[in-house]
Amino acid sequence: MKRVYNFSAGPSILPLPVLEEAQKELTNYHDSGMSVMELSHRSGAFTEIITQAEALLRDLMQIPENYKVLFLQGGASQQFAMVPMNLFGENGKADYVNTGSWSKKAIKEAKKYGEVNVIASSEEDNYTFIPTLNKELFSSDADYVHITTNNTIEGTSIREFPDTGDIPLVADMSSNILSEPVDVSKFGIIYAGAQKNIAPAGLTLVIIREDLIGHASDMVPTMLDYKTHSETGSLHNTPPTFAIYIAKLVFEWLKNLGGLEAMKEINESKANLLYNYIEQSDFYASPVQKDSRSIMNIPFVIPNHDVDAEFVKEAKKEGLETLKGHRSVGGMRASIYNAMPLEGVEALVDFMKRFEEKHK
Ligand SMILES: *Cc1c(COP(=O)(O)O)cnc(C)c1O
Repeated sequence: MKRVYNFSAGPSILPLPVLEEAQKELTNYHDSGMSVMELSHRSGAFTEIITQAEALLRDLMQIPENYKVLFLQGGASQQFAMVPMNLFGENGKADYVNTGSWSKKAIKEAKKYGEVNVIASSEEDNYTFIPTLNKELFSSDADYVHITTNNTIEGTSIREFPDTGDIPLVADMSSNILSEPVDVSKFGIIYAGAQKNIAPAGLTLVIIREDLIGHASDMVPTMLDYKTHSETGSLHNTPPTFAIYIAKLVFEWLKNLGGLEAMKEINESKANLLYNYIEQSDFYASPVQKDSRSIMNIPFVIPNHDVDAEFVKEAKKEGLETLKGHRSVGGMRASIYNAMPLEGVEALVDFMKRFEEKHK
């Protein structure tokens, strides 16, 4: 069977060359006579994998020396708890920006550990835009400020990061990490579940400024203390070895492509193709304000026609999969992460044209 174009929001499409490489060495990795899945996490071969993965990521994202890269588990959802557990100090206060369902979950979790101020929110408008984030909004005594750079479900993204002065900026970048260059030095912590733009599920990436490590109270479980993982090179216990190996292959793929500048250009042309088509059509519409649109997750609706289910079904027949919108937004959603080729978006737009002709 030929491969489909998978528009799933996560777990999501991986680059075909990466899957092929993994397939090629699946049963015998580099003459070890075993699969990466079977290698000890303390073996030389795995040490090389995790070391290279980190080096490649540092290079791609230009991560400064005073930041640690951690390969953890528990998903972005576990970071919703780890961040407050590790960063709440004397004040026990943090500022959160509420831009979507995932932000809301992060807020709910942080409230278990301290005082949370939601300093900006677009919840009352169904999260259809990103609120303006002026410096004046932030509390001077906050331990950190939390943002979600890309709202996977709603299809919005923060185009300009706020200046939080001395207060560490913490970002959930699960659904747009590595989609374009970012200035890591603006952040205290960047975290991301791997299953959108990095690797299979099971791996969570954390990039953390060194001075933010080591402040967890004694009550914090060993596994939830950033210090545990930074002191052991993410090898305190068994890490998700196979996911780290795939992440390494994805980083190599990105490097060969020309890095994050090149990736950004490709991502923008894919997104523009879809947005421009939606814009000129009076059949489809975007539920998201223009200045807040994500280039990774693109929801669209078909107003005044009850044809969403048919759209999804017909598209699937053509190998365009997982286009059903999230239940909170309705309509359709195309997630066009790094690994989605331009041809996939072209095929989608071509299908949308024919579907429009048939139904308008
Ligand atoms: C998918 C996602 C999450 C949840 O990730 P898990 O790894 O499943 O915990 C959190 N935040 C954002 C922005 C996401 O896209």
